[in-house]
Amino acid sequence: MATVFEMIINGDIPSTRLYEDDSCVVILDINPVSKGHALVISRECYPTFTDVPMETLSHMMEIARKVDGKQRSVLGAEGTNIMINNSPASGQEVPHLHIHVIPRFSGDGKTPEFRKEKYADGEMPKYGELLKL
Ligand code: AMP
Repeated sequence: MATVFEMIINGDIPSTRLYEDDSCVVILDINPVSKGHALVISRECYPTFTDVPMETLSHMMEIARKVDGKQRSVLGAEGTNIMINNSPASGQEVPHLHIHVIPRFSGDGKTPEFRKEKYADGEMPKYGELLKL
């Protein structure tokens, strides 16, 4: 079944488009964290960050940076959250790669609450070893 973003890209459902090219489409998120919240969506449906070719991902990041610039210059955003939810366990709802670009303002209270954990004694170096690239 087509994802909602495929339907948007094919023009089967409406969207507010900010930009498009051969690799990606940028739209406004219908349920914005803050007004102007944009989604940079791969034109081809790669389910996750892990699946997309690096060249496409790099291009999408370049476009996300342009969106960030526009949100700063036009909306007066003082910062942005550039975010990819990667696989359902992370909260990804639409299995079609997209980069969120969320305008942020000092004191806007929108910072997501990630509950943090603590390493037990000696545990951090073990994770360090396990995750070395
Ligand atoms: P994620 O949880 O990272 O998969 O985010 C999916 C995002 O898509 C959510 O922020 C939704 O608000 C947004 N979304 C879902 N349907 C639409 C739509 N028809 N037009 C614009 N944004 C949408």
